[in-house]
Amino acid sequence: MNIHEYQAKALLKSYGAPVAEGVAIFTADEAEAAAKSLPGPLYVVKSQIHAGGRGKGKFKELSADAKGGVRLAFSVDEAKAHAKEMLGNTLVTAQTGAAGKQVNRLYIEDGADIERELYLSLLVDRSVGQVAFVVSTEGGMDIEAVAHDTPEKIVNVAINPEAGVTAADLSKLTSALKLEGEAKADAEKLFPILYKAFVEKDMSLLEINPLIVMKNGRMRVLDAKVSFDGNALFRHDDIKALRDETEEDAKEIEASKWDLAYVALDGNIGCMVNGAGLAMATMDIIKLYGKEPANFCDVGGGAGKEKVAAAFKIITADPKVEGILVNIFGGIMKCDVIAEGVVAAVQEVGLKVPLVVRLEGTNVELGKKILNESGLAITAADDLDDAAKKIVAAING
Ligand code: GDP
Ligand code: MG
Repeated sequence: MNIHEYQAKALLKSYGAPVAEGVAIFTADEAEAAAKSLPGPLYVVKSQIHAGGRGKGKFKELSADAKGGVRLAFSVDEAKAHAKEMLGNTLVTAQTGAAGKQVNRLYIEDGADIERELYLSLLVDRSVGQVAFVVSTEGGMDIEAVAHDTPEKIVNVAINPEAGVTAADLSKLTSALKLEGEAKADAEKLFPILYKAFVEKDMSLLEINPLIVMKNGRMRVLDAKVSFDGNALFRHDDIKALRDETEEDAKEIEASKWDLAYVALDGNIGCMVNGAGLAMATMDIIKLYGKEPANFCDVGGGAGKEKVAAAFKIITADPKVEGILVNIFGGIMKCDVIAEGVVAAVQEVGLKVPLVVRLEGTNVELGKKILNESGLAITAADDLDDAAKKIVAAING
């Protein structure tokens, strides 16, 4: 689960991280009071969407030379004018996709005088099984480009979970970031705080880009992107309360209600599969035959008829879907249960696109019989390869 920048900053502030004063607003009317409550004279008006690259982003509704999704303002009136222009409009950034995201919240922040922009993130480094800091002196810009062009400028420091952030770790980090004086002292306080927040709140990613050294020599968290491990949310009611469903894919929200492992993708073949490995193999083979999957969907081992029907409905509700491939290996899951779920869902919502079903395993004959006797236009497939070929052929007409 992701949260907004202003929420992430409030959370980090509660742990003692240096964060600017700021106010989140939902309507342009609130902009004046928000800006007036800040010290000034520099204000930053920041679009709150669950995507990065806002500064360089463009608003769809505004002219091409209009400013982006993060704007500096030098007076309360200017902050107000920016807020009015940004709220309700659609921001397109390198991370939103071409459709962009509507800006429904703004964060008005006290502006900083920046000396240097650094990069810092914390993530779970699977190769060492530890939480690791990733830092670079090249902050503020596209870190993927830095990693690609100048990988030596990115430093990785994994943290031993028993020891926590040690003096040796801090020394590696502050020297990698070339920090000195007060900024170094600030960093030595900040980094253990970030690690503590990451572990306590079960984050999966904490990215601060940029982490800045200000003209006055002090550090500040200027941007913050935080993702949480969905499997640990049950023990963080405070984090769950920060969820903004308008930022999430409606199909994924519905899927999570049914405890379905569903991820919306860009292609046009809807997939319903049992088992994550088989689901990935199914997506691979669709690509092998030249098409793209519209989703990843693992209905799991113990799904009942209702859950299967719910999954099928979520898949068919996606307007991009031009064909559906159901691929089930009945082990724990029984083929007849899948067949009943598919038939029930099709009877309820209809079937406007070709459907290819490959069933194998427990109760396969019974499952096939249910499908055959349903009177629905379902194409049966013998195996995975056959199924992929058939659905691709059906779409290609
Ligand atoms: P992103 O574009 O979505 O990553 O949004 P950021 O919060 O990282 O802001 C983008 C850029 O705006 C930063 O890299 C800074 O260069 C600039 N910026 C943001 N806040 C301030 C500020 O307080 N003062 C100044 N001078 N620039 C800022
Ligand atoms: Mg940023």
